[in-house]
Amino acid sequence: MVEFIKLSSEDDIVNLGQGFPDFPPPAFAVEAFQHAVSGDFMLNQYTTAFGYPPLTRILASFFGKLLGQEINPRKNVLVTVGAYGALFTAFQALVDEGDEVIIIEPFFDCYEPMTLMAGGRPVFVSLKPSPTRDGELDSCSDWQLDPVELASKFTSRTKALILNTPSNPLGKVFSRAELELVASLCQQHDVVCIADEVYQWLVYDGYQHVSIASLPGMWDRTLTIGSAGKTFSATGWKVGWVLGPGRLLKHLHTVHQNSIFHCPTQAQAAVAESFEWEQLHFGQPSSYFVQFQQASQRSRDHVMRSLQSVGLRPIIPQGSYFLITDISELKSKMPDLPGATDEPYDSRFVKWMIKNKGLGAIPVSIFYSAPHRKHFDHYIRICFVKDESTLQAMDKKLQKWKDELGP
Ligand code: PMP
Repeated sequence: MVEFIKLSSEDDIVNLGQGFPDFPPPAFAVEAFQHAVSGDFMLNQYTTAFGYPPLTRILASFFGKLLGQEINPRKNVLVTVGAYGALFTAFQALVDEGDEVIIIEPFFDCYEPMTLMAGGRPVFVSLKPSPTRDGELDSCSDWQLDPVELASKFTSRTKALILNTPSNPLGKVFSRAELELVASLCQQHDVVCIADEVYQWLVYDGYQHVSIASLPGMWDRTLTIGSAGKTFSATGWKVGWVLGPGRLLKHLHTVHQNSIFHCPTQAQAAVAESFEWEQLHFGQPSSYFVQFQQASQRSRDHVMRSLQSVGLRPIIPQGSYFLITDISELKSKMPDLPGATDEPYDSRFVKWMIKNKGLGAIPVSIFYSAPHRKHFDHYIRICFVKDESTLQAMDKKLQKWKDELGP
């Protein structure tokens, strides 16, 4: 990932690789940060270890309503250095030597190393695309888990399953029925579900995000992870959180207390004030979550049309910042790509595209375990949560490419 992000950051490259908005956060969030740095001078000092109290309080009340839970701000909430920090703390706290962690492929790439760093053993299960229908675009909802295969991955050593919905890189929003299947297996085998829901506000075409922690019996075995960076288009703030039952959170508190101790106070104060603003507008047309979702859906549609114009087949995402697109139809028109023969095709394709077409993306094979990579080496991931000017620059590059390809 780091290699492709670096290549895509060169001047002149339209960077659709890394997942960050290249437009400002909403004005209320920027003002909230300004208040945090120019207001109460005590916000320059340490705060409570597990989270700045106004932030843990608003997270508890905001998500308590959504999850149908009485959330105690001190016992059921931990504020972390981004959702990355939340994930790392969760793996360190819960996964012991030899424990198995079920990871659904394609997966956000840090899940595998985080499992290994905790001494755990990743166990992979892939979402399988159903056969393509002629003429129609595929949707990520066609990528499904085989219930029998999923059940076969649970053993007496399974400690956790990590579920990412809406997912990165596919943009899949797991349906209630799919979540019920995962939930019943977790309950049957006494497994913790780590639910990475950082894109929960970005769900398109009327699909619904369902938090697995809200299903019967699941609060007590789920850690729900969120990100202020993704929530308020401010990925550099690096504020994330974990919500969950006290019996699990107490172990995360111990890891956090002995590694980070607490996160930057001012950034937490800015996130608290941003949530207070959103809470007043939530569910109304003025809500940032509503407006950001609408703008992102328009960008998604723009990118899908543009990709189709050069003969690529995007897979319609139901949510998140990302879509993946099939590149196999371009294969016959491509020159011989440089790179080692054992390097996946999509990886060689992306390096060639960055260098020769000025467009940055991420090969999807990096979101698979090594043994499965070769079966998924003809997709690339594109981040569409970008400014209109970036999308126009992308259009120019794609148009030029199309002209070169000829009729
Ligand atoms: N989970 C997923 C699925 C993500 O895509 C990302 C960011 N790319 C994160 C967690 C990390 O979020 P943060 O920036 O808040 O650390």
